[in-house]
Amino acid sequence: MTESPEPARPASGSTPQPTSASPDASQPPHATPAPVVLPEPTSTRPVPGELTFQAPRRGKPPRHLADFTPAERKQAVESLGHKGFRAKQLSTHYFERLEDDPEQMTDLPKAVRSQLVDDLLPTLLTPIVQRVADDGQTLKYAWRLHDGAIVESVLRRYPKRVTICISSQAGCGMNCPFCATGQAGLTRNLSAAEIVEQVVWAARALRRGELAGGGDEDREAPLRVSNVVFMGMGEALANYKASIGAIRRLTDPTPDGLGISARGVTMSTVGLVPGIDKLTAEGIPVTLALSLHAPDDELRNELVPINTRWSVDEALDAAHRYYEATGRRVSIEYALIRDINDHGWRADLLGEKLAARGSGWVHVNPIPLNPTPGSKWTASRPGVEQNFVERLRSHGIPTTVRDTRGQDIDGACGQLAAATA
Ligand code: SAH
Repeated sequence: MTESPEPARPASGSTPQPTSASPDASQPPHATPAPVVLPEPTSTRPVPGELTFQAPRRGKPPRHLADFTPAERKQAVESLGHKGFRAKQLSTHYFERLEDDPEQMTDLPKAVRSQLVDDLLPTLLTPIVQRVADDGQTLKYAWRLHDGAIVESVLRRYPKRVTICISSQAGCGMNCPFCATGQAGLTRNLSAAEIVEQVVWAARALRRGELAGGGDEDREAPLRVSNVVFMGMGEALANYKASIGAIRRLTDPTPDGLGISARGVTMSTVGLVPGIDKLTAEGIPVTLALSLHAPDDELRNELVPINTRWSVDEALDAAHRYYEATGRRVSIEYALIRDINDHGWRADLLGEKLAARGSGWVHVNPIPLNPTPGSKWTASRPGVEQNFVERLRSHGIPTTVRDTRGQDIDGACGQLAAATA
């Protein structure tokens, strides 16, 4: 086990003032499908409330099999002068057998093998740090990407399931003041393959038995990644094309993809309403998680600055449309921050707003705030947390407090803040 690189330190955790730093802040927030006027890219630390939608342009990562649909793979292989069926062979090695050693790809002629592997299975992630917590049941990886940017993933074992929390961007442009990633700004978008590779690496680690624990039922079959959550670094819906490509690769049956059940995949968002609506139209039954953190616009404008574009009600309506279209129960994420958003009246207001939209469509996951460097905020007191939960339940809203495992290796929600190059 090695130590983590020095994390980027936020200047302070103080409450930001809502700001009109973004050029289009004067636009009406709810012109749903209208394109957002994009601010200039930045990779510097954002000022409080500033939103960054467009990732700074950096050299593109090398292309990779996992960027492509099966039809595109065939084209790519043919354009290299090989028979189209080689694409399927390569996909079987990568997605089904998780093979990364060209020597083992014995059904491919040697010369073909090296060219195809060099061209379509380049190294995208280099592991630089691996940390272990919870008696070996949590592993946090930091990866260096081709251009030196660093992202993190967290692999965690629960009874009967294994979850990987993946990053969709290096950094994040959404600037939530309680989240370490948001404080460092947006470095760049990941490619679909860079997202998928995090899961493939995890699947290989499981096959090698690198994640401890598990009961008898787990020993009978090799462990598999059962759940993938887009809750690492980044706002995946702000990197929509790559994220949806990654979801397709994860959920397509082998050998076209990894064959993970869409129900095991969770897309978590600050509430980019047009992105939620686009996801709804895809018709893939992944779980949607909405990071709400406050039921009133006044507070949410500060805690989740995107709220200045799409309000609490607009985000909840979009989440409800998602439920109606997919039948998938939506998760509402609510980090409980002591004396900031944990008041009983806020639990009531949240309960009322959710119940007003119907029953059985939603559940709430309060998350005790995980500490981040430089922030003065802390988790709610246990009694206050309990009261918050009970009040929500009294409105008929299923509510489960999320665990905060991985905290001791800065691997819990909102703590991923690898230094970026
Ligand atoms: N951009 C996505 C993914 C972010 S991380 C989103 O906003 O949903 C996943 C969850 O962790 C989000 O709900 C996020 O708000 C929450 N989170 C961020 N910082 C946290 C912290 N310090 N403690 C607890 N939860 C936090």
